[in-house]
Amino acid sequence: MVKPTLEQLPQLAKDKHNENKKYFAKLKKKPPKNLDYVMQELHDEEFERTDCLSCANCCKTTGPLFTNADIERIAKHLKLKPQQFIEQYLRVDEDNDHVLQSVPCTFLAADNYCMIYEVRPKACREYPHTDRKKFQQITNLTLKNTHICPAAFNIVEAMKQKIKL
Ligand code: SF4
Ligand code: SF4
Repeated sequence: MVKPTLEQLPQLAKDKHNENKKYFAKLKKKPPKNLDYVMQELHDEEFERTDCLSCANCCKTTGPLFTNADIERIAKHLKLKPQQFIEQYLRVDEDNDHVLQSVPCTFLAADNYCMIYEVRPKACREYPHTDRKKFQQITNLTLKNTHICPAAFNIVEAMKQKIKL
């Protein structure tokens, strides 16, 4: 499927929201045995034709959560103490997680490169999580991500074609 542009995505994701929600409810009830395998395949196929550097919508609109290991690794890279890093860049959200104080992410450069790419948070490395094992457990997150990530939107569209429920 042709990937939606960032201008098209909000409306398309809105149009598909209820259909996707119903589909995911069915998926949760009875996930197919080969789900991990199919998701890995769909994820790899979509990302082969995805240029994240011309998008960066995840970095622009939604930040990752930072685990303690992320904080220690990134602080060290920036030659800061973990506490200094937290005070300078992070806040605690309603789920008690460390998240960015503001978006777009402070570490996103003008050319869409990540300034801390080598040490970036685990959540950034794994975004949009469409190759996650036991994918049926993260359908709420994925539904949200279809509104943010054109690749995630397409993967869900392809998934509905591949796995009829
Ligand atoms: S992961 Fe999705 S939202 Fe993020 S840059 Fe790539 S295509 Fe865009
Ligand atoms: S840390 Fe890097 S990859 Fe993660 S949101 Fe910021 S710019 Fe994007």
